[in-house]
This record gives sequence, structure tokens and C-alpha cells, in this order.
Amino acid sequence: MENIITRLPKGGDLLLSLNQVCADNKVTRGMVQLIGAVEFATMAYYDQDKQAYETFELREHAEILSCTGNVSLKDGAPFCHMHIIFGGRRGACVGGHLMPGSSVFAAEAVILPLPGKELARGFDEPTGLPLWETW
Ligand code: ZN
Repeated sequence: MENIITRLPKGGDLLLSLNQVCADNKVTRGMVQLIGAVEFATMAYYDQDKQAYETFELREHAEILSCTGNVSLKDGAPFCHMHIIFGGRRGACVGGHLMPGSSVFAAEAVILPLPGKELARGFDEPTGLPLWETW
């Protein structure tokens, strides 16, 4: 499978657009790397004690300094698990686990499909997270 080099549409949802690119290209396992900028963003922090995501928002324009993650199957569909660091006007950073609810200003993504059998997520009791079933 060829590497995918793509630009995400302005105003689109960053995470959902990535998931869609993977679905369109039938990527079931791989790596993702992306840089660009957002109009606003939604992230999450996983509270290990509560075993629950706490979401938080960035309500300003920001650079995507680094956004990296992986692709596997969740509930039968390609799912990008992405972590992201944003930079503001003076370089201050904030980051977290990328959630739906982030609006693309510009985004250049490289998706590297990895050979091998499908990589699927399932519920992991010790962490409460949907983790890889094979490792
Ligand atoms: Zn995460």
C-alpha cells in the first residue's frame, strides 16, 4: 500500500477528516504525522483514577506544532489515535489527546500504512481504554 500524502480541507474536523482519509484508502494499520494550524480545538486528558477522558477546549487560533499517532480498527472502522501539541502567538504550548471538535485552518498529513494483518482495538479492563487486542 502506498504512502498517503494529503492536505485536509479548511473548516473540516481535524480528527474526523483523518479517519475519513484512512477509510477512503482502506488503511487498517499505520502511522500518522501531521502539521498545520487550527481555528479552535478540542482535546482530552485521560484521568487514570476515574478511567474517564476529561475534554477541554482551545478557543483560539493555533499552530499544530506536532500531531502524531497511529491507525487501527475501532468498532470495525479505521480510527486515528492522535496526540497533538499546539503553539500560540508567543510559543506557549498546550496539548493532549485529540478529540472531534477541532477545526482545520490548514493541515498537511502523511499517513504510512503498515503491512500485516488488521490491527483492532478492544476494551482493556485494567486501563478502561480501547487498546490494541494484539501486541
Ligand atoms: Zn490518547
